[in-house]
Amino acid sequence: MESKHRGHKINSRIISRSDHPISRSNISENALKVLYRLKNAEYQAFLVGGGVRDMLLGREPKDFDIATDASPDEVRNLFRNCRLVGRRFRLAHILFGREIIEVATFRAQAGDESDQDGGIEVEENGRILRDNVYGTLEEDAWRRDFTINALYYNIEDFSVVDHTGGMADIEAGLLRVIGEPEQRFREDPVRMLRAVRFAAKIGFRIDPESEAKIYELGHLLKDIPAARLFDEVLKLFLGGYALQTFELLRHYNLFEHLFPLTEEELAREENHFPHILVARALENTDARIEQGKPVTPAFLYAALLWEPVRQQWLQLQAEGLSSQQALSQASQSVIAQQLEATSLPRRFSTPMQDIWFMQPRLEKRSGKRAWRLFEHARFRAAYDFLLLCAEAGEADNDVAEWWTVFQEVDDDERKAMVRKLTPKRPRRGRRPHKKKTSD
Ligand code: ATP
Ligand code: MG
Repeated sequence: MESKHRGHKINSRIISRSDHPISRSNISENALKVLYRLKNAEYQAFLVGGGVRDMLLGREPKDFDIATDASPDEVRNLFRNCRLVGRRFRLAHILFGREIIEVATFRAQAGDESDQDGGIEVEENGRILRDNVYGTLEEDAWRRDFTINALYYNIEDFSVVDHTGGMADIEAGLLRVIGEPEQRFREDPVRMLRAVRFAAKIGFRIDPESEAKIYELGHLLKDIPAARLFDEVLKLFLGGYALQTFELLRHYNLFEHLFPLTEEELAREENHFPHILVARALENTDARIEQGKPVTPAFLYAALLWEPVRQQWLQLQAEGLSSQQALSQASQSVIAQQLEATSLPRRFSTPMQDIWFMQPRLEKRSGKRAWRLFEHARFRAAYDFLLLCAEAGEADNDVAEWWTVFQEVDDDERKAMVRKLTPKRPRRGRRPHKKKTSD
């Protein structure tokens, strides 16, 4: 079968089991269960998206997405542990404890004649708001974002179905938008962020035509709801490749749409500190993920927004506010402005502020203060943050070192450390009386 893609003829291909490396032993048991149950109920069932892409690249897939010709309601009837989600895209989530297998019904392309029931909703500017018209596997392939994300692994015969030339692009190391990049980015500007995310993660080149359009159309991200951009930020920065992703986002002028205040500070050449702090924080995040340690959006946002907060904090102090008042006001104002770009749920913004507010307090360690901080629920995060700032040259190394030791020693030694800091009070009582002057 032949079809056209940006002027190129593309032959749909079926790559048989013996000609590709995907093996069932690399697929999660739960995903296999879902595939087989669909197949046994006489539906078509394919693995698609990142799972197939990553397995073809010899990488461990992050999750498994399934495409089928069963409608969402039919999927729900097959699985007890199923939940239908999404308005923009109606999807079935099959829940297995912490693992979620996403099952999507084949969709027709936007603008297709089959749009009789109003299942597709497109804005004037071309953005797709709703896309729920069902179609065939081939139609489904053409409405996906990149060719390498449109490869389907068929549970029926273990072959891979390729309608868009994804196999060739996997071999060429090319991230190619399916269809016209301009139209596809206008339909959904988040695809530009996805391009950068995949390019950073798997080290592929973005094809030149798409690249040019990213520079041109990045500004469309301002129309994307802040909540969706928050979800995307988490995928960009908590996916294990935060540092490369950050550098690429800045390269394509996309970072400014996610963190406008941070970009302003980074763009001020003379100030290297924010760049080092952000890069270190992202490097740490990647390392923690690599080691299987937990990461939190609170810490990530704390690092990304610290320089704007710090600048406003200094400014407000210069205007006469106390250090504490200035910091609290600066943090509120930065959060309010950030929420216009990406949302940040309160369960993250509260601990983020704790981390910030504890920074000046970590310097004041005398008397009972050190102990109070040490017992604070967010002490460890605040200390980690202090270390980052010290490494970036923006906090006192001696203070950071003091806290490192404080955590390592026993209570008696801690008391001694605090005693050494506590300034000696002047002795009472023996002061010479002032001479009374009598007139
Ligand atoms: P990851 O490894 O991060 O999960 P992924 O490619 O699987 O990468 P998902 O967000 O899980 O990404 O989406 C699954 C698949 O759905 C994609 O591979 C792509 O085919 C399709 N898709 C997702 N988002 C879009 C979009 N905005 N536009 C078009 N297709 C999309
Ligand atoms: Mg996926």
